[in-house]
Formats: sequence, structure tokens, C-alpha cells
Amino acid sequence: VDEFELIQKLTADLPKQEHLLVGPGDDCAVLDLGIPGKQLLFKTDAVVEGIHFDATADPEQIGHKAIARPLSDVAAMGGTPISCVVTLGLPPGFDPDKIEKIYGGLKNTAARFQVSVAGGEITTNPGQIFINVALIGTIDCGRVLTRQGAEAGDGIFVTGELGGSISGHHLSFKPRLDEGRWLAANFPIRSMIDLSDGLSGDLPRLLREGLGAEILARAVPISREAKLRSRQTLTEKTPLLAALTDGEDFELLFLLPRGHSVALLDGWKKQFPDVRLSCIGTVVAREGIRIKDQDRSWTLKPNGYVHFKKPQ
Ligand SMILES: [Mg+2]
Repeated sequence: VDEFELIQKLTADLPKQEHLLVGPGDDCAVLDLGIPGKQLLFKTDAVVEGIHFDATADPEQIGHKAIARPLSDVAAMGGTPISCVVTLGLPPGFDPDKIEKIYGGLKNTAARFQVSVAGGEITTNPGQIFINVALIGTIDCGRVLTRQGAEAGDGIFVTGELGGSISGHHLSFKPRLDEGRWLAANFPIRSMIDLSDGLSGDLPRLLREGLGAEILARAVPISREAKLRSRQTLTEKTPLLAALTDGEDFELLFLLPRGHSVALLDGWKKQFPDVRLSCIGTVVAREGIRIKDQDRSWTLKPNGYVHFKKPQ
């Protein structure tokens, strides 16, 4: 049983009350608790030593990442984060100074995004440090951006630059909360997700059966780190492949109906002059993700495996 099959089994028959509007399978759950004009976003996320951060990582950055990840999910729905609770799992013989610094990093980021830390707990964990953050946020009724709704012809947009996050971005990224809210408030965004598993893993999550995508290789915003790592031959990936398949970019990926691109790109430049926004391709009525690179075209697989095809 792989992780996907397990999730399917566990979520097959979940208890559900009328207040649950969006359940498992999106960036956050959405609840209607009868607050006038508002819906509630609900999210939990854990980082584990050895998986999401190295034991040698800067402790304040570890704390930052632990809360920035669920903040990024709130951003991906177009919402505003409100409050969180934090569970720490600590191995026997932990270093109290280090834990204080981790918590300090978490508190700084919470304060920076006007989030209250409302409590939590500490438990013992035999192996490594883990930090779980459960977060609530709000969104105006009718404004929530889910992963549903893609249509053929939609433009595919991505914020920032992609690839090479392992060099440090994954510990220091800024969740795109202002950007997500601005997009939800000003444009008829069809659907949105934050990039945690790479474009190759996350773009298919926006595409229902019968839909695919055409991506223009030259439009993909490749990060400096992806280019550097490729040059230093630390990896066999080309910079483009790194940008398409590396995880933990935490940028926003979204779809916009045809005809709004110029207004979006103009408005964006004024609103967020320091953040790149790229239109990288189009949703098409043919399954699969095809990368158009000069005179050839490839199919990008969800796991990042690339199958080369003859030029079309
Ligand atoms: Mg997400």
C-alpha cells in the first residue's frame, strides 16, 4: 500500500457535518460556521527532522518553515491566516537552547503575518524532532480558490522562480499570502495550489480528467539555484528539469480564463514589483503535460520522469 492508496482508504468514509464545505484533497479544509460574510480555513502540517530539515539546519529557519508551510496553504486558497496551535515532538536528551530557537523562529514568522499562537503541547518522540502546526484562517464568502474548475484555454501562471529549493529556499521562503489574497480579490482565478511537490506533481492536481497542459519551456522561471546546482554537476538534472520537478518551491500555481492575462500582468507589476509572475502555458483538452522546447516536445510525468518524443 503506497501513501496515495492509504489516504484513499482512510478518507473513504469520514464523518461529515453540514458545516464542511471542502474536505480532504485541497490545500485547506473550508468550513461554514455561520460567521457573517466569512468562511473558515483549517489546516494541519508537520515537519520532521531528517525529512523536512537536517539536524544541522539553522533552528530559527526550522521554526519558520514549520509555520510557513501551512501559511502557504492558506495563501493557495486566497485566505488570511488567524491563529495556530503547535505540537512539538522532542527526543530524549534534546537540546533546550535549540528548541527555544526553533520556537523563536516560529513566533517571529507568526508575528510577521499577524497570526496568534494560541497554545499547543509537547510530547516525547523516540526518534527525531517534529513540529506540527494546526492553523485556522478566514476567507470572504464566495472568494475561496480550490483546486477545482480548470477549463481548456485557461492560462497557467506561476509566481517567483522554480527549482533548486534544497539549496536553502525551502527553509527561508516567504508564503505568498499578500499575493494570494490580491489574486482572489481582483481576478476571476479559476483554481490555485501552492507548489510543494514540483510543477510535475502539482499541476496535474488542477487538471480534471480529459484535460492536460502545454508548457512553453522558455517561459518557465528557472531559479538561480537550479542553474547553479546544474552547473556544479551536483545533480544530473538540467536547470529546466529541476524547475519542473524539484519540490518545496512554495510558489503559487494558478489558472486564469483567457482574456485576463494582460490586465493581470500589468496589475501585478504595480502591486508586487519584486516578485516575478510568469504565464508558462495553457490548459488543453488533451491529457498529459507537454513541454514545448524549441523544435521538440516532451511529455512530463508526475514523478518527473521525462519521456522524449519526436518533434511535432
Ligand atoms: Mg498545498
